[in-house]
Amino acid sequence: MSEATVSISRLRRQGRVLVVGGGISGLAAAYELSRGGAEVVVAESAERLGGKLYAGEIAGVPVDFGAESMLARRPEAVALARQVGLGEELQPPATAQAALWTRGKLHPMPGGHLMGIPGDLRPLSSSGVLSAAGLARLTLDHLLPRTPLGDDVAIGEYVAARLGHEVVDRLVEPLLGGVYAGNSYRISMRVAVPQLFETVAHGGRSLIESVRKTQRRAAAAAPQEGPVFMGIRGGVGRLPLAVAEACRAEGAEIRDRTAVRELKRTVRGWQAVVDGPDGRAVLEADAVVLSVPAPVASRLLSAESPAAAAELAAVEYAGIALVTMAFRRRDLLDLPNSSGFLVPPVDGRMIKASTFASRKWAWIRDASSDTVVLRTSIGRHGKEQDLAWEDTDLVRFSREDLEAAIGLTATPVAVRVTRWDGGLPQYPVGHLQRVARIREHVAKLPGLAVCGAAYDGVGIPACIAGAHEAAQRVLNSLRR
Ligand SMILES: Cc1cc2nc3c(=O)[nH]c(=O)nc-3n(C[C@H](O)[C@H](O)[C@H](O)COP(=O)(O)OP(=O)(O)OC[C@H]3O[C@@H](n4cnc5c(N)ncnc54)[C@H](O)[C@@H]3O)c2cc1C
Repeated sequence: MSEATVSISRLRRQGRVLVVGGGISGLAAAYELSRGGAEVVVAESAERLGGKLYAGEIAGVPVDFGAESMLARRPEAVALARQVGLGEELQPPATAQAALWTRGKLHPMPGGHLMGIPGDLRPLSSSGVLSAAGLARLTLDHLLPRTPLGDDVAIGEYVAARLGHEVVDRLVEPLLGGVYAGNSYRISMRVAVPQLFETVAHGGRSLIESVRKTQRRAAAAAPQEGPVFMGIRGGVGRLPLAVAEACRAEGAEIRDRTAVRELKRTVRGWQAVVDGPDGRAVLEADAVVLSVPAPVASRLLSAESPAAAAELAAVEYAGIALVTMAFRRRDLLDLPNSSGFLVPPVDGRMIKASTFASRKWAWIRDASSDTVVLRTSIGRHGKEQDLAWEDTDLVRFSREDLEAAIGLTATPVAVRVTRWDGGLPQYPVGHLQRVARIREHVAKLPGLAVCGAAYDGVGIPACIAGAHEAAQRVLNSLRR
């Protein structure tokens, strides 16, 4: 492969910034940088922009093959969608009613909880989700002495100490499984439920009372109106594509099929060795935003910051597979009246959730009058063996579980398995401190910033917020 120095030939503005990674984090950073006056090049190794946001099609029906909804109670994702012209396309789920498949039955998700931790025992008592012994155990919360919290604690461990294992295994675990594909007995309580952590740290010994207090405070601080989640007609996978268009309109250059292999500091800034469609080349830039998963960031920083690289290499990831299936409507009995269901791992099933996409999103339902789309997800941190199966096996397991859960026996007319190896970074106890150490090491390298799902939260709004912060840090360094 030939080595050539590629100059980024446009008007020199604030300075030249190389953004590595064209997922939502990289593109949101690129947009902020371009609008802040920087000359931007985005290098994305894949042919497709968007990373874990991926709008596709099954049996002619548009669907998301990756992330599908954005938390709307945080402003960043919906604000970015509006900025890049997708405001009119935002659409809340048609139904917010979720269910739990446990103890051999589908149960409506009991209300009044915070990430599965009950603040109100009445809906839980009547839901059938917990056994009589599990329900009785909850009441000890008011009697038990205070449970030490320390600087941080695994959410499952703390909740089990106060309320028993059953509520963790049947409620907290499936909800956290949905967000992190993680194990609640390892995930940081400070990360998963930060407001509750604060309330518990400063409150009384009862966890149920702390949940209530946290919910009351949240309601008083910002009377929440409007939907909790938003989708985008045609898929949230449209968001990164629209952001990329907006970047181009600001003069940014976006290169797909361009993998960054090495990063080096130079006297003036940074040099990147990239492999692109035209072979190997060297890109020069004044600053770099690294918005790639932690293992890639680790490799790229190994020469300039072995300490940051070592911390990044220690970030663990969970792999996930999504099985999307299209059915003929006439082949299906009616689906239950919910957006789908979660499955607690203790029940020993293969799938961890199913989304009734055509029920959840009106834009999917309306796209075809005779096709119904469902998806299942498989894979949890620590259960990598589940993903060792062939695609055909994952489809078979999904269909077996769907038959047992909702009596679905129809044969799909189209099936698509999307594998997300290293899909979700884990946030165990100690992760916040690790991220602080990474940031300390990175701050020693002028003109470098990191962002992405591994740092400030895995959700789309958190990724965008982290990207904006990284972009501002780089713009400030360029101005200096
Ligand atoms: C199956 C699944 C479902 C999810 N569902 C939701 C959801 O409904 N709602 C929600 O809020 N969040 C969801 N998430 C989480 C969220 O989608 C991700 O955390 C977020 O999209 C991560 O964005 P990112 O840009 O940080 O990383 P990524 O999307 O991973 O982007 C990183 C990019 O860097 C590129 N890259 C890697 N190496 C190189 C290199 N050497 N050079 C150049 N480019 C490189 C990759 O190809 C990729 O495009 C889901 C995640 C998964 C896996």
